Amino acid sequence: MTELLHMRDNYLREFDAIVESSGENYVVIDRTAFYPEGGGQSADHGVLTNGSRTVQVTDVRKVDDEIRHILSASPFRVGEKIHGEIDWARRYECMRFHTCQHVLSRYLQLNYDVVTVGNMIKPGESRADYSPLESFDEEMKRSVENDVNDILAQNIDVDVRFMPRAAAISFLRSRGYQTRYLEMVPESVQEFRVLIIGDFDVASCAGTHVKNTREIGRLQIGKSKNVGAGKRRIYFKLID
Ligand SMILES: [Zn+2]
Repeated sequence: MTELLHMRDNYLREFDAIVESSGENYVVIDRTAFYPEGGGQSADHGVLTNGSRTVQVTDVRKVDDEIRHILSASPFRVGEKIHGEIDWARRYECMRFHTCQHVLSRYLQLNYDVVTVGNMIKPGESRADYSPLESFDEEMKRSVENDVNDILAQNIDVDVRFMPRAAAISFLRSRGYQTRYLEMVPESVQEFRVLIIGDFDVASCAGTHVKNTREIGRLQIGKSKNVGAGKRRIYFKLID
């Protein structure tokens, strides 16, 4: 089982590891700071090196219980010591986008009574799907954008806490959140990672986030479209 260093430290950019197994174009290592694609967030990119050979990591995927680092060249040998470095510009942008999506989603839930039913966090432009949201006209768009930017500008601290399952569920319930999806998580999962955005939002999330909303910059909402069954997809960018 690969130890996921990014779960404890979202700002870790480099690490040492040992190759545990390999495939034609990938390695599995004992520990990693690379975020594997999941929860709507894109995978990290970066490099792995053994000192004499540096190979690009072009994708990171979770396949069954394995975290596979997909490589641009032949894999390293099993047992080899390697050093990993993530593409920080790409990752940091994903952290800013992902944290922004939490704030946007909470704002829309509080003010428009919609739930987030999907998301795609990636550099450049991200998106999230909301339901039920039939229309989202220009006036609403500007009003949401302004209000969310006012919230981001409050420099709210973002904390991550690891809580035992029952404590996490009762904590979210005490803050007024639905917990039925959390309760559906297999009982084998006994610890939840809880994201706390000041008094504004809490969520159980394994993604990567910034430490304060000031790091996000400003939200710019782009186009939106109906994607069926009352769902609306909203695209957004960040401006420094
Ligand atoms: Zn998250």
